[in-house]
Amino acid sequence: MTEPLYCINHPTVETYLRCARCEAPICDKCAVQTEVGYICPACLNRQQRVFYADFRPIYYPLAAAIALPLALIAGWILPATGWFTIFLGPLAGTGIAEAARWAIRRRRGRYTWLVVAGAIVVGGLPRLLLSLVPLVVSAADPSLLTVGVWPLVWTGVYLFTAVGTAVARLR
Ligand SMILES: [Zn+2]
Ligand SMILES: [Zn+2]
Repeated sequence: MTEPLYCINHPTVETYLRCARCEAPICDKCAVQTEVGYICPACLNRQQRVFYADFRPIYYPLAAAIALPLALIAGWILPATGWFTIFLGPLAGTGIAEAARWAIRRRRGRYTWLVVAGAIVVGGLPRLLLSLVPLVVSAADPSLLTVGVWPLVWTGVYLFTAVGTAVARLR
């Protein structure tokens, strides 16, 4: 049996817990659970400061460089799958967001969500423009309109769901 330690913040409170970072004894009131185990408030503070200070503006173009090619592929293929877009759009949004986060080593930037959302919208533009063609054509012959409007609907569904899930994941 090990001797009880005393919390560095509460000298009267016995504990067996030590901070995973600095090994200071901490009571269960002070301990904060993280990926590396329980850590003390001082270490948590330091870790969070590093987390944000570590972010450099260069990570935005880096996130975009990964997100844009994926968004171009997803934006071209998925709306062509018709109603499957309802399920595939959120998946694409999640995938693109995770790829962008991986690219910047999961560092947190305030505007990462905006960069990724922008990439998804830009990536959807080729399909969006193509889906407008039937509408332009049907302007001459309105009987074609019912056929012509679906590509635009699915492109809209794709953009809405993909951007929505990506932003929810990154904010
Ligand atoms: Zn500590
Ligand atoms: Zn304590």
